[in-house]
Formats: sequence, C-alpha cells, structure tokens
Amino acid sequence: SLLRFYSSESAAPAPSEEAAPKLVTRFDDLASLGVDSQLVNAITQGMKYETMTDVQSKTIKPALAGKDVVAQAKTGTGKTLAFLIPIIQRIINDQPDLAHRGRMRARSDDIRAVILSPTRELAEQIGVEARNLCAGTGVIVQTAVGGTQRNQMLRKTQREGCHLLVATPGRLADILSDATTGIDCPNLSALVLDEADRMLDVGFERELNEILSFLPNRAEVPRQTLLYSATMPKNVVGLARKFVDPTNFEFVQTIR
Ligand code: ADP
Ligand code: MG
Repeated sequence: SLLRFYSSESAAPAPSEEAAPKLVTRFDDLASLGVDSQLVNAITQGMKYETMTDVQSKTIKPALAGKDVVAQAKTGTGKTLAFLIPIIQRIINDQPDLAHRGRMRARSDDIRAVILSPTRELAEQIGVEARNLCAGTGVIVQTAVGGTQRNQMLRKTQREGCHLLVATPGRLADILSDATTGIDCPNLSALVLDEADRMLDVGFERELNEILSFLPNRAEVPRQTLLYSATMPKNVVGLARKFVDPTNFEFVQTIR
C-alpha cells in the first residue's frame, strides 16, 4: 500500500547514490549529528540510555536531516524518544537561543511543534518525557488533552507560552477553531502523528482533517511531519498522503 502512496503522487525517488547509509546506534553518536549537548546529556546521563532501539536508530537520523518519516513500529519500541529528539532539535535550530534556559520568552501564538496522540494518558506521558528532555533548555512544553480543565490549560499556556504542544486531536481541533484562545501556530515547523492507527480507530479522522485545515500551508511554512503507526491499513496510508511530503519522506519498518 505504501507503493501506491509513492506512485499516485509522484515517481519513486531515485535510489540513493551511496550504499546502505551508516546507522546511528548509540545516543552518544547524536552529538556528531548536531544534536544539542543538553539533549544528549539528558538521555545518556539523566535517563541513562546508551543504545538506541531499532525504530530510534532508523528514524532519528533521517528526521534530523529534515525528512518526513512514516514509521511502522509496535508499542513499546521507544517511539517517544524517536520523535522527541529530532522535533526538539528542530525547534532549537529555528531559535538557537532556546538551547539556553530562560534566554527567550515563549509565546502562546507561535507554537513551533505539535505532537498528536490518541489518548489523554499517552499525551500526558509524552509531555512528561518531553519536559525531562527539555529541562536544560528554554523549550516550553504544554499538554492539551480532553476532559476537564480546559480553561486552566488555556490560562497556563497563555501565561507561560509554548514551543511544543502535546495534544489529543479533539482538544487541539477545539483550541485551533476557537480564535479567542490566543493559542495558534502560524510558524509550525514540525508535526508528529503518534499511534496513527489508534487515532483513526478512536474516530479522530474528522478532527485530524479539521486540524490540517487550521495549519499553515506547507508551501509557505515548511513543515516536517513524522507519522508512527503499529499497523499500516488503508486509512493510515490515506492519512499519510494528506500529511506527509510525498517527495521527501522515508518509510521505515521495524520488527523489534
Ligand atoms: P512506544 O511509544 O513505542 O510504545 P515508548 O517510547 O513509550 O515506546 O518507550 C517504551 C519504554 O522504553 C519506555 O519506558 C522508555 O523510557 C524505554 N526506552 C525508550 N528508548 C529506550 C532505549 N533506547 N533504551 C532503553 N529504554 C528505552
Ligand atoms: Mg508511544
């Protein structure tokens, strides 16, 4: 089905000139790919992780190089770090002062990256991991999930600002469609769709399309999209075709 994704939009990209590119397998190697030392330290010294999982090893490097990624990977394979590292690094690349804590004021109407997750619990877990990773930086992370506390979330985000928003699709569609919130992303440069198959199973297709209509046009504001899914049924491929750049993406399949 991914073949259809290629052929109906454009010719398949030419095979790469170089033979199999060297994989990064250790978090220490990230420094040589330009990842900020605060992030590398948070992983190797804070979380004490040394070796990457398969999906981390295969997706972090192309994502750091700016490619869109469609990755098929099961639950428990370390997808959270796989997308957080390139996404946070992209935020810092856009605004280098954010590598230093407290150097910049964050705004709530200039969100740079959004991560969408199917459930409140998963979004909150991602938010916790993102805050841990960003602790030594000036990157501000907020979480917007369904349920109660809408006003509390809005006030906190307006007060503290936000660079990276972790959200469920329902709550994000609600926020972006409400012009009075003061929360917006006209310069959005990264979007993650985590557990895409589950988001569609839960019935978030309408909200995902609504969100897409509120995002800046990719032709005017270049945006990187990373999509992860445990399975790749037709509806996920259809979602990928709407969100992912067909001329510059990497498809990664992992078994572990
Ligand atoms: P997924 O999103 O694919 O279900 P998670 O990102 O939630 O997986 O990671 C699953 C568990 O593995 C978490 O406890 C996480 O902290 C841990 N983990 C992630 N990457 C590594 C790694 N490279 N080495 C050891 N543990 C890891
Ligand atoms: Mg996950």
